[in-house]
Amino acid sequence: MCMSLFGALVNAEKTDRPEPSPGYSKLTVLEAEKAIAGNLCRCTGYRPIADACKSFASDVDMEDLGFNSFWKKGERHEFSGASGLIKSYDANNGVRMKLVVGNTGMGYYKEVEHYDRYIDLRYIPELSMIRGDHTGIEIGASVTISKAIEALREESKGDLSLQVSWCSKKLHHMEKIAAKFIRNIGSIGGNLVMAQGKHFPSDIATILLAAGSFVHIINGVIHEKLTLEEFLERPPLDSKSVLISVRIPNCGSIKDVYPEGDSKLFFETYRAAPRPLGNALPYLNAAFLAEVSCSKSSNGIMMNSCQLAFGAFGTKHAIRARKVEEFLTGNWLTNAVLCEAIKLVKATVVPDDGTSDPAYRSSLAVGFLFDFLGQLVDSSSNGWLKGYSGISLLEDVTSKEKYDNLDHVKYPTLLSSSKQVIELNKEYHPIGEPITKSGSALQASGEAVYVDDIPSPGNCLYGSFIYSTKPFARIKGIGFNSKSLPDGVTALVSFKDIPKGGQNIGLLLSFGPERLFAEELTQYAGEPIAFVLADSQKHADVGAKLAVVDYDLENLESPILTVEEAVERSSLFEIPPVICPKQVGDFSKGIAEADHKILSAKIKLGSQYYFYMENQTALAVPDEDNCMVVYSSIQCPEYAQVAIAKCLGVPEHNVRVLTRRVGGGFGGKVTKSMPVATACALAAHKYQCPVRIYMNRKTDMIMAGGRHPMKITYSVGFKSNGKITALYLDILIDAGISLDISPMMPKAVVGALKKYNWGALSFDIKLCKTNLSSKSAMRGPGDLQGSYIAEAIIEQVASFLSVDADSVRAINFHTYDSLKLFYDVSAGDPLEYTLTSIWDKLATSACFNQRTQMIKEFNRYNIWKKRGISRIPCVYDVSMRPTPGKVSILHDGSIVVEVGGIELGQGLWTKVKQMAAFALSSIKCDGDADFLDKIRVIQADTLSLIQGGITAGSTTSESSCEAVRLCCEVLVERLMPLKERLQMQTDSIRWEMLIQKAYLEAVNLSVNSFFIPDFASKQYLNYGAAVSEVEVDLLTGQTTILRSDILYDCGQSLNPAVDLGQIEGAFVQGIGFFMLEEYTTNSDGLVDTEGTWTYKIPTIDTIPKQLNVALLHSGRNPKRVLSSKASGEPPLLLAASVHCATKAAISEARKQLHSWGCLDGSHLTFQVGVPATMPIVKELCGLDVVERYLQCKVGRN
Ligand SMILES: Cc1cc2nc3c(=O)[nH]c(=O)nc-3n(C[C@H](O)[C@H](O)[C@H](O)COP(=O)(O)OP(=O)(O)OC[C@H]3O[C@@H](n4cnc5c(N)ncnc54)[C@H](O)[C@@H]3O)c2cc1C
Repeated sequence: MCMSLFGALVNAEKTDRPEPSPGYSKLTVLEAEKAIAGNLCRCTGYRPIADACKSFASDVDMEDLGFNSFWKKGERHEFSGASGLIKSYDANNGVRMKLVVGNTGMGYYKEVEHYDRYIDLRYIPELSMIRGDHTGIEIGASVTISKAIEALREESKGDLSLQVSWCSKKLHHMEKIAAKFIRNIGSIGGNLVMAQGKHFPSDIATILLAAGSFVHIINGVIHEKLTLEEFLERPPLDSKSVLISVRIPNCGSIKDVYPEGDSKLFFETYRAAPRPLGNALPYLNAAFLAEVSCSKSSNGIMMNSCQLAFGAFGTKHAIRARKVEEFLTGNWLTNAVLCEAIKLVKATVVPDDGTSDPAYRSSLAVGFLFDFLGQLVDSSSNGWLKGYSGISLLEDVTSKEKYDNLDHVKYPTLLSSSKQVIELNKEYHPIGEPITKSGSALQASGEAVYVDDIPSPGNCLYGSFIYSTKPFARIKGIGFNSKSLPDGVTALVSFKDIPKGGQNIGLLLSFGPERLFAEELTQYAGEPIAFVLADSQKHADVGAKLAVVDYDLENLESPILTVEEAVERSSLFEIPPVICPKQVGDFSKGIAEADHKILSAKIKLGSQYYFYMENQTALAVPDEDNCMVVYSSIQCPEYAQVAIAKCLGVPEHNVRVLTRRVGGGFGGKVTKSMPVATACALAAHKYQCPVRIYMNRKTDMIMAGGRHPMKITYSVGFKSNGKITALYLDILIDAGISLDISPMMPKAVVGALKKYNWGALSFDIKLCKTNLSSKSAMRGPGDLQGSYIAEAIIEQVASFLSVDADSVRAINFHTYDSLKLFYDVSAGDPLEYTLTSIWDKLATSACFNQRTQMIKEFNRYNIWKKRGISRIPCVYDVSMRPTPGKVSILHDGSIVVEVGGIELGQGLWTKVKQMAAFALSSIKCDGDADFLDKIRVIQADTLSLIQGGITAGSTTSESSCEAVRLCCEVLVERLMPLKERLQMQTDSIRWEMLIQKAYLEAVNLSVNSFFIPDFASKQYLNYGAAVSEVEVDLLTGQTTILRSDILYDCGQSLNPAVDLGQIEGAFVQGIGFFMLEEYTTNSDGLVDTEGTWTYKIPTIDTIPKQLNVALLHSGRNPKRVLSSKASGEPPLLLAASVHCATKAAISEARKQLHSWGCLDGSHLTFQVGVPATMPIVKELCGLDVVERYLQCKVGRN
């Protein structure tokens, strides 16, 4: 992101814009935001990054910057780019060569093939030119997409009004390709060659096809000029052919071909992708050129000619829809003609077999053509749509204007504004201050040392996992296709290499172990079978990819791949009774009191992948006397130490696990880092040399396990006013092959589900053992699902009663008494129950009621866009765990702190530093104002500080802080007598002086503590609520989050800036779960969304356009650590507000369809899948909504 912003800053400086005020650049706010579109961040939720970028912009509105006090302006750094592609070309000596420009195609095709030479085409002048004349513009094949965009921008500066849109439509479309940093190096030619020869779903091919472009290729000495269509239809270019250039005619020259008197040209491009701007290939793209003329006598519009191109829909290459073009040409544009054209489009845009969501893709083609031609259709005779919206197509225009007057908030394209409201608390200074996050400068500059940044020791080998692709199979052998080992590969490590006395254990928790490597039989697809060792990570990865595993399925039972099969075959894990959740009340009595019942309704929830930025990584270094030092990116080094010791068969004191910081964990590095560290340790032990791994994203995604999928069947009884009297749930949790943390899931699911008073609550929860990777903790494990299940039930009850869901929520809120009944000791005192006040305050701050009314108006006046709004609460039960701490003061007064908790990016070190500074400041030395600068928190070391436990469950920061406070208390106690003595001799005692004296007097200046939370108060509830408003596009199924407001009770925040970051980051990760992220498997249970091409986490363009977060300052609470509360996981649950708002918008779309007579009476009883991706939303809004609409119009005419 730094590089992207830097590039944007440099480019802005090159423009001739007026000099900005000192400290600002010529960059605009929009450019700043766009610069990072497509970059991924999993921690922050993008808002603070966007603010940081925008703070450079000359047109920035400081009011819009939110909580922006953490960066300095005016600093510039120069950095040089990498280069060095080989520039020689010798065709005759049999070396393997590849033509490249940006070589970004590599990212898509993930070539394993090795080339001897890469021929860099950027230096061939003919390929790098851009030439324009009155007939059009010719762009050299190696011109980058960014440069082509600039050239089109220049062209569009011509004075022809059509020329402007002709060029600008193309350039705007091209600005949605990949991300800025790809566009800066990826070439137009590379894109077209990929589209032509490798069936790449290109945008450029589609838009240039509709624009009637030509290409120039050369093969040896033969030059050829072809239409782009001819080029695309040819067999792939051979290795001796070079694409020289592409020529885009200008609209004037096209019009010359159709010289009709007063005809007009229209050009438009379309694209539907999971993320509008950020690095997502389209489901379908289209570009249309039409030349039409208007008959003055009939007021009709005649299509003189058109060029209609569609691409990326699961076809070999972009195509011209010739039959549709032929049909339209010479026809008057009427709704009846549109209907026919659409039928032809559907017959033309047919995705190839195996393409995902084929019906959705075809419906997009229909929607786009309708959007294009619909504007041209004579609609003067319409007006039949009074039933639902009271408008016709023509009236759409007026109604839109009308709505614009109603719409107080104008929603721009990207994150426009944000507001963060906090209350500062000086009582425990510097606790409560929004101090800068510890280590943030190191992280932003790239200097922070993560495991993979540690330089490799001499003789280091690199590992890569070979994993099973079969869920249940006998392994007959593992080898390589070639006779010799692949390049650089030195050995294979498997369970056979486990030393005598050791065990095949890769992961160990109190619930049980999971093996490191498969033995005779595989147990799930994705299970590690062996570890390839090589002289570089690349060689190890290629080696693992080239490995061939010989499987035998004979006489083996079929694997269990679904929870239903697991139940049928009694493949269930036991849930220890002590952690089983408790039922509440009498279900039969509750259901008997109900006026209405919904019986056996179903909900299905899928998995989610962590997508930490730092993949799983470890480095193991053998030490003297059979010891092993392991650097691991893990949330619980202590458990890795135990697993490694068990695997190697050595005492635990032989194994030292070190973790300085983790580049994002989200639960994925609680258990799943253990086998990674253990495999490295085993290989290092066997070959007595250092062994490391940085797992590639694909293997990481395949082996990660992720969030627990679930199937829920529920029956609910309720009164006519929406008050629920009884709820029964049957929950099947897919735990995968081993227990991992799964036994904790039922309690977590029920914990969050209990946020409403269900009257009586009863359930049967089964933990299913399947032949799938074991599922593990993922941020808010179980709670996320439980909270969502509660909302889905509330929504269903509201639909049944035809009332709004918000009122059903409110009527089912807990009183303090019912809260106590459902949550027992966690409920705390009545004053701690802040949810009802949060609920009301949020309604006011988010203008909930006014906006609900405005949305009704919006929906009345808009046919193709519908909006929805939803407010939801969250209740999150957390538990503090015992945590160690150690504080030592060195000679110069500097302080070193060790804690059980690991810094995962959640700001634990920052809070710990603040706590140490606060606690030591009670000594009250002179001049100790900058205590914070004296404190360093250091890496976790399992031999230095034992019983570190797990960093998870949202409470590790506060427990670590408390452990540190206990240490400091003892240090203060030890230093105080000395200080008092010194005070008698001198007036001013500085900290350094006190410490020097303490050293001389042999005061013990190092203290260990072990914080054990008080049983009665270790569990407590966290509260928050969110309102989200979305807009759904009925033609594409795209959901835009217009605004989210969050109010969250952080107690007295230890650091409001850190807590805001946690809240926003969690919320956006939740948006990923509810709206975008599909973590799916093939029929063998092997993860098939194994990269960024198919797995879409949110980017800056998919977060709310307005994101307002406020912390509720809920006052003093002696039971909490300095009155603070947790923030890491609970806000994730609030992202369900986006999903519920989407459901509300879809519901409006379905009401409209119903009003057209297209849906039966049950149109409002529907479930929206999770994630609510574009195909899912579109299907619920009607894949054939355009056809239905037109049929109605034609029927009424
Ligand atoms: C993350 C990502 C997202 C993307 N998203 C999109 C998207 O949304 N829409 C879209 O349209 N594209 C997208 N792309 C594709 C991108 O536009 C292409 O990767 C890029 O344009 C290729 O250009 P290059 O210079 O890097 O080609 P290279 O990778 O250098 O070459 C690609 C292929 O073309 C051959 N080749 C290159 N130039 C010539 C030539 N002049 N003559 C003959 N052969 C040649 C090479 O040998 C190679 O086989 C995306 C790419 C990435 C990496």
